[in-house]
Amino acid sequence: MWQSNDDRIMDIFDKAKSKNTECFPIICPVCGKQGGHLYLHRYQPEDDRGGMWTWCSVCCNSMHTSAKIPKWWQNLKTIDFDQLAALPDYLENNKADIDEWVNKLLFLDDSNKQR
Ligand SMILES: [Zn+2]
Repeated sequence: MWQSNDDRIMDIFDKAKSKNTECFPIICPVCGKQGGHLYLHRYQPEDDRGGMWTWCSVCCNSMHTSAKIPKWWQNLKTIDFDQLAALPDYLENNKADIDEWVNKLLFLDDSNKQR
């Protein structure tokens, strides 16, 4: 079901890293539909290394790599690390919670903390 042969799906992470993005789910850079998602998982608290997943619910392109995790990221407590795999089936099943969490980290924290 999932395909991982189109690097453009990584643009989702590149945009989110710099917080230069619209709300999730975002427009997929591959198919142009509003199905783009992102999840990051920091391996240890305060560690800048972790796992990165981007995927699209519409065209089913996905990518998983290890990555440098941006400072603003916090793991979502309801995501079970043991269920994370290279393919985003588990993440797809939890995408509503994940999108809400990513949007909160991207857009709400700024007004409280960084002034
Ligand atoms: Zn797509």
